[in-house]
Amino acid sequence: RAKELGRGQYHFFDAELKTCAVRKLRLDVRLRRAFERGELEVYYQPQVDIDSHRILAAEALLRWPDGEGRFVASPGEFIPLAEETGLILPLGDWVMEAVCAQISAWLLRGAPPVTVSVNVSSLQFRRSDYVGRVCSALDRSALNARHLGLELTESLLLDDVDLAIGRMEQLKEMGVQLMIDDFGTGYSSLAYLRRFPLDYLKVAQEFVAGIETNRHDAMIVGAVIALSKSLGLNIIAEGVETAGQLAYLSERRCDLIQGYYFARPLRADDFVALLERGPIQTPAFPVRLGA
Ligand code: C2E
Ligand code: MG
Ligand code: MG
Ligand code: MG
Repeated sequence: RAKELGRGQYHFFDAELKTCAVRKLRLDVRLRRAFERGELEVYYQPQVDIDSHRILAAEALLRWPDGEGRFVASPGEFIPLAEETGLILPLGDWVMEAVCAQISAWLLRGAPPVTVSVNVSSLQFRRSDYVGRVCSALDRSALNARHLGLELTESLLLDDVDLAIGRMEQLKEMGVQLMIDDFGTGYSSLAYLRRFPLDYLKVAQEFVAGIETNRHDAMIVGAVIALSKSLGLNIIAEGVETAGQLAYLSERRCDLIQGYYFARPLRADDFVALLERGPIQTPAFPVRLGA
């Protein structure tokens, strides 16, 4: 009886594992096909100056539209998959190339200059020719490096500290803006960060979300801003959704704000239209536009 039950459970577990693996395999096949067919799209989420409410920068975020106004899967699902299969290498190159070409086109049509940051996966960053790839993406679009930002995560930096510092120094030399993404979710300390040639620090969304409701989150955000300032780093708060969060960040002299409060990630055309309109008016602006 016990044996039977045991076998039964085993079968059940096995079946579950299989559906999971099958789903991943199916998604992988669809993702590759979508990428090859040029169906993936880069969205741009504004980063707004905290005082003037002008758009000074943006984050490039990958989207997988299904052609019917919805998305096939979120980056939270398909990026880890692409990292597992290695597809992130050609995909990451494409995002960087597309972003450089887009900024260059916006500048040519006379739009206000912006810096657009792309998310870098550690698989990309560890490639021996990574710096060269960034360089050729910029060259192909004849783009000044100061318009490109690279978002690196704590784990990517801590993975191989000497390699990271070396690559970052070369990139910094070129004029690329270097940022640490989701700060506070990993294990690095601010004192440790001093070793890396960073320009911006992005305070993780999960702490920003708690500013009004959790005094520990509020204290962490305050302390991170104060210490970053003393290290000469600029600060971007991500995931800002409310006027209360904005007020708290403004009082502590955070530099840039990214979040639904000002705008969602937008299609390129919607983004440049908003950019050309000047400072973002809130709450009159329909923040529900986009993804
Ligand atoms: P991330 O780099 O931390 O990006 C910020 C995420 O927060 C984005 O999610 C963005 O849409 C979301 N967000 C922005 N403002 C708000 C807000 O006010 N409230 C809330 N609740 N969320 C907000 P998204 O676009 O789903 O991307 C998730 C993650 O996927 C990104 O986190 C990044 O790690 C990864 N990712 C996206 N695009 C790329 C890419 O091209 N390459 C790589 N390697 N990773 C990417
Ligand atoms: Mg990011
Ligand atoms: Mg982030
Ligand atoms: Mg994240």
